[in-house]
Amino acid sequence: MKVELLAITPDAEGVIARCARVSHRSEGKATPEADAKLIRRLIELGHESVLEFATATFLVEGISRAAANQLTRHRLASFVQESQRYVDVRERGLVRPPTFSEDQWRKAVSLHRRAVELYQNLISAGLPKEDARYILPIGTETRLTVSANFREWRHIIRLRGSRAAQWEIRQLAREVLRILKQHAPTVFGDLEVNG
Ligand SMILES: Cc1cc2nc3c(=O)[nH]c(=O)nc-3n(C[C@H](O)[C@H](O)[C@H](O)COP(=O)(O)OP(=O)(O)OC[C@H]3O[C@@H](n4cnc5c(N)ncnc54)[C@H](O)[C@@H]3O)c2cc1C
Repeated sequence: MKVELLAITPDAEGVIARCARVSHRSEGKATPEADAKLIRRLIELGHESVLEFATATFLVEGISRAAANQLTRHRLASFVQESQRYVDVRERGLVRPPTFSEDQWRKAVSLHRRAVELYQNLISAGLPKEDARYILPIGTETRLTVSANFREWRHIIRLRGSRAAQWEIRQLAREVLRILKQHAPTVFGDLEVNG
């Protein structure tokens, strides 16, 4: 899986603090240290609505349809996903779950190859891609863009990075968090995706 940051609010933490300070007219007290302290305090108090003033957009490639289905359940995020109705996906690989042994994976790849062959034959026979795709496995790779504000990213990372979540979406949560921590260490510094 490849996760690439496409866009992020410039000076995101400065913007969040600037907006938060309107409430107490404390703009005159703004310094990077005071802003970080303010943001940490607001998060501790659960006043996370100010985090909505910053957003981040990612391109995710090589994620399975199975994991993409989980991610797109997050209603406050925005998505564009590659359409299997219009794009010929015979080149798309199969995502390998870590639990597969070599022998199990060889069999899965062989089955996938046969499914892709049939997919190709169905298209050659005149079926539309949107129907031919029905025989492709749920582990088939897809690509998507996802955009969300920082409040929603914290929510997604907490839910999808927890040990209760599946390995692949946890991998995504870990990578998104790693990138967001570089750009907004105060907002995301208290979150971890362990294991
Ligand atoms: C470990 C795990 C297992 C799961 N298993 C299943 C499963 O077996 N089957 C299944 O169907 N789903 C499953 N889910 C998906 C889960 O039920 C949620 O649909 C998904 O995690 C999105 O969460 P959310 O609604 O909190 O987040 P978002 O859609 O991202 O929303 C963020 C927050 O906004 C608020 N919000 C959003 N929309 C509304 C609304 N309409 N009304 C009121 N408040 C709203 C809520 O506070 C919500 O928490 C699973 C999720 C996890 C993490």
